[in-house]
Amino acid sequence: MMIWIDKLRRDHALAPDEYRQLLATTDTDAVEYLHRQAREVALRQFGHDIYIRGLIEVGNRCRNNCYYCGIRAANMSVARYELTKEQILTSCREGYKLGFRTFVLQGGEKSGSYAMWEDVVSEIRLAYPDCAITLSLGEMTRSEYEGLFRAGANRYLLRHETYNADHYRRLHPESMSREHRLQCLQWLKETGYQTGTGIMVGSPGQTLDHLVEDICFIRRFQPQMIGIGPFIPQHDTPFRDCRPGSADLTLRLLSIFRLMFPSVLIPATTALSTLLPDGKARGILAGANVVMPNLSPAAYRSSYALYDNKAAMGTEAAEGLALLKQELDKIGYRISTARGDFK
Ligand code: SAM
Repeated sequence: MMIWIDKLRRDHALAPDEYRQLLATTDTDAVEYLHRQAREVALRQFGHDIYIRGLIEVGNRCRNNCYYCGIRAANMSVARYELTKEQILTSCREGYKLGFRTFVLQGGEKSGSYAMWEDVVSEIRLAYPDCAITLSLGEMTRSEYEGLFRAGANRYLLRHETYNADHYRRLHPESMSREHRLQCLQWLKETGYQTGTGIMVGSPGQTLDHLVEDICFIRRFQPQMIGIGPFIPQHDTPFRDCRPGSADLTLRLLSIFRLMFPSVLIPATTALSTLLPDGKARGILAGANVVMPNLSPAAYRSSYALYDNKAAMGTEAAEGLALLKQELDKIGYRISTARGDFK
């Protein structure tokens, strides 16, 4: 096992079956070695700096019905909201004062309109020329992606969720298409965005072979950002009774991606912190180099209910940066207020 981990660090790739065995192993020394190697690679690349991104959850109206997601269109129990341009700009202003130099606008796919996003992105670009604007607004047309890029957006997060066609169908209704999502990722890259993709770990029906397919897809795609977090059930969805994904497997994947892509930007996700109280520290010690505290107006945070018990306060909150600093301090890391582009 250790030989493969050394090979992964050296060559940044393994054969599919070797990835599979790394994911399946019960050898805890090997897993600790994997995390140590990934940590060393991240330290060489970024030192002890952890980039912060201010996450603004711009709205929870969605046209889609992903079976896992708490803001799916068919969920009648969630209070729907949509931030106004002024509320988004206020969040950016507060974030800027706190030291954020990246704003991430994420939302359901019926929150706002293209015209509104073009206007919001242009205004943020004008007001904060030194900041990066990351969008995570789902699937759009190629010309919409191009328009938002021209308006000043720099990065786009769009997890492919699962590469395997049968597994994609297990997670999404017929109205959604894996091919279209992959097409969107291609358009984003061609448009010039720093592009992020990723998966939920432990989503219902996922096997280790599916994860290996995801790893191989991500290797071919060569993203600049990778988002991986555990699946967590939400009580108003068809997957309400499913088990959450494994934090251990999430951390292994995080280390594998760090060894495959030394300079890629990988967040220690909120979902990981929701499952593990020390999830942020564990993610960083496994190779993550980004955290995304929540900058949304506090009154709306509970309505962005992707999964149950979603952490949005304390070190997950932008106003909790002092707590985050303490937590990072304990493991020898520090917050970086640099823009933190992919290099
Ligand atoms: N609509 C946009 C999209 O699809 O990319 C952005 C919003 S979507 C809610 C953001 C991410 O939340 C998804 O990519 C998915 O991986 C994650 N997510 C949704 N439901 C989840 C759950 N139950 N557990 C963990 N992550 C979840």
